Amino acid sequence: MSKFLVDKYQTIEPYTPGEQPKKGSLIKLNTNESPFPPSPKAVEAIAKAAGDLNLYSDPECKKLVDAIAEYYGVSAKNVIATNGSDESLAFCFQAFCDENTPAAYPDITYGFYKVFAKLYSIDSKVMPLKADFSVDPADYMGINATVFLANPNAPTGMALALEDIEKIALSNPENVVIIDEAYVDFGGKSAIELTRKLSNLLVVQTFSKSRSLAGGRIGFVIGCEELIEDLRKIKYSFNPYNVGALPQAAAEASIRDTEYFEACRKSVIDAREYTVEQLLKMGLAVLPSCANFIFVSPTRISGQEYFAALREKGILVRHFSAPRVCDFVRVTIGSREQMDAYLKATREILEERR
Ligand code: PMP
Repeated sequence: MSKFLVDKYQTIEPYTPGEQPKKGSLIKLNTNESPFPPSPKAVEAIAKAAGDLNLYSDPECKKLVDAIAEYYGVSAKNVIATNGSDESLAFCFQAFCDENTPAAYPDITYGFYKVFAKLYSIDSKVMPLKADFSVDPADYMGINATVFLANPNAPTGMALALEDIEKIALSNPENVVIIDEAYVDFGGKSAIELTRKLSNLLVVQTFSKSRSLAGGRIGFVIGCEELIEDLRKIKYSFNPYNVGALPQAAAEASIRDTEYFEACRKSVIDAREYTVEQLLKMGLAVLPSCANFIFVSPTRISGQEYFAALREKGILVRHFSAPRVCDFVRVTIGSREQMDAYLKATREILEERR
């Protein structure tokens, strides 16, 4: 750290992204990416758009926003596109939290919420998940804070019912409730429909997971026109050209290719159901997941030992050291072949330690 870094950032603990090892060296089940390449139509669209890179990208992301609006049956005025959904979340923290309005989120959730709160000097109301790792909706009723809920939650994969989201939003008419649906396409129910009637509800989604475009960095927010206008104000005060021309083209083609999207997500859901069944047969504990990852406790060995033993066998998963979850590892659902390799490694690890 240099002596020039301003005081307020000196104690910040940045988000730690999952390891990105050299291609092919490990089976990569650690960052919840799709095992499938982007839609061929997205790749084609990138090639077409590349010739115009001498020009700035469209700051309005018009074609992409129109395609998202069409897909979800909302108006373009209800949509803003961002550089990954991390940027959507950052805009929400900037727009809807300050010294008088803290952020509320669970103790076990997406690690970036805590980092954004610190970055923007916002207080946090951290609400512990219940013993079974579910969110207790009662914790958020009339909480007087901007609420951030990942649904399904990460790293648990567990989902909150839409009725509970509605109740939370209704009980906080003076605050915005942000539902982070990064993983919703793998079995969750989207709250987008609720944004039509709830003017304090925003839904954040991403192209990184179910649409195989993590490297493209495209996210978006859906909500009532006024809230989207607030987010646009932040965007145009920060980085008007926040989404590059190639990602815009890729994402537009990708959301129009419903056939490819449906095939990929079905494949991931099937591989998840198969993996969970095999793990339960082996005696491991697995939380009920609606996401493209599972949270697995090996029960007989520690989470750290399981993580290290899997790595030895060429399988990279994610381990978190926080006390409540250190007995678990988070395993991204890959292709059926990748999951078979993971299951084989797990079987061997448990046998070696019998
Ligand atoms: N929300 C959650 C819950 C996530 O796990 C992630 C992925 N790390 C994100 C948002 C951000 O994803 P992206 O910026 O790639 O859209």
